[in-house]
Amino acid sequence: MKVGILGGGQLARMLALAAHPLGIETTVLCPVEDATAAAVTRHLRGSLIDQRLLGELAHGMDVVTYEFENVPLESLRFLDGRVAVQPSPRALAAGQDRLAEKTLFRALDIPTADFHVVEGEADVARALSVLGPPVLLKTRREGYDGKGQVFLKAAADGAGALERIGGGPALAEAFVAFEREVSIIAVRDAGGGLSFYPLSENTHEAGILRVAMSRPGDPMQPLAEDYARRLMEHFDYVGVLALELFQVGDSLLANEFAPRVHNSGHWTIEGAETSQFENHLRAVAGFSVGSTQALGLTAMVNCIGELPALASVLAVPGAHMHDYGKVPRPGRKVGHVTLRADNPADLEARLGRILHLTAGTAAPAATPADANT
Ligand code: AMP
Repeated sequence: MKVGILGGGQLARMLALAAHPLGIETTVLCPVEDATAAAVTRHLRGSLIDQRLLGELAHGMDVVTYEFENVPLESLRFLDGRVAVQPSPRALAAGQDRLAEKTLFRALDIPTADFHVVEGEADVARALSVLGPPVLLKTRREGYDGKGQVFLKAAADGAGALERIGGGPALAEAFVAFEREVSIIAVRDAGGGLSFYPLSENTHEAGILRVAMSRPGDPMQPLAEDYARRLMEHFDYVGVLALELFQVGDSLLANEFAPRVHNSGHWTIEGAETSQFENHLRAVAGFSVGSTQALGLTAMVNCIGELPALASVLAVPGAHMHDYGKVPRPGRKVGHVTLRADNPADLEARLGRILHLTAGTAAPAATPADANT
């Protein structure tokens, strides 16, 4: 079984690592010479729109998947019909554009924050009067890790705001005073069978995910599963999908979905019976999906900007290091640490130690490739 992956960041690297024991051969297509995934798998170096290289993938692979949202749609369209492409390019198209995404959530009866379409400066003032303030102005495309967004606290903040995010088209969203952020990682197999991991509870720093905790038995799990199911069935989806949600009281508002493996699901490598990476491969390759059951309690901490000393991390009981082999740079996700424990008190104590070891490294990412959510 041969699986092609568009993109060569840490998500592709972890997919490739999960593929090895299954005897699945992976090939990544990525323009970056020292692509993070290239250390562990075959690397076609070149542009994601290079038709010769895409043709090579189409001929040599059984299925092609992707590890990030900003893969050019034209590349997926080129591949589609020549080779199986999973998840569906329709899911990628919706995930690339905040307006299409929000409109779809609404059509599927999945609640979201109120929003207003912004084409020009005048729409920003209108959005502020209709929705707020406070309002978040976001680029429709290519936003990531809090980039491409600006927080408008008062009506006066509207002037020049659109310029600050690079001009329109954009989306203005009512600011949600949520109690917490959660995400659900779901997987759908080729026969339509659905599995869900326990909710992840997520904490961000400077717009970047810092900590994700597994929450087995969370009371919001059934509602989150229902929303993820609606999305996956809509797309006849195959593979792993992540849905990010804000909790307000007993409701969940959808923020965005990612048609791929997700940073808030990294804890599943050690914290679940089958990891999100293995299950994504199993699904897109047409195999049965493995159990998504949690193994005890797990927390994942992102290492942003630089890695902590390996010896200090490994001295913490239940800690597992994941070094992405990247050159350190402010705001870059260079690795993560997973922590396991059998009880909340132990997990809390271990988490405190790892947060201390990785403190002070969080800073805004310089490029989307640095972030690779
Ligand atoms: P996004 O790029 O849309 O995932 O947003 C990044 C982060 O900004 C989210 O994880 C939230 O912490 C915050 N955020 C985004 N949209 C909203 C909103 N409408 N209300 C409050 N916080 C938000």
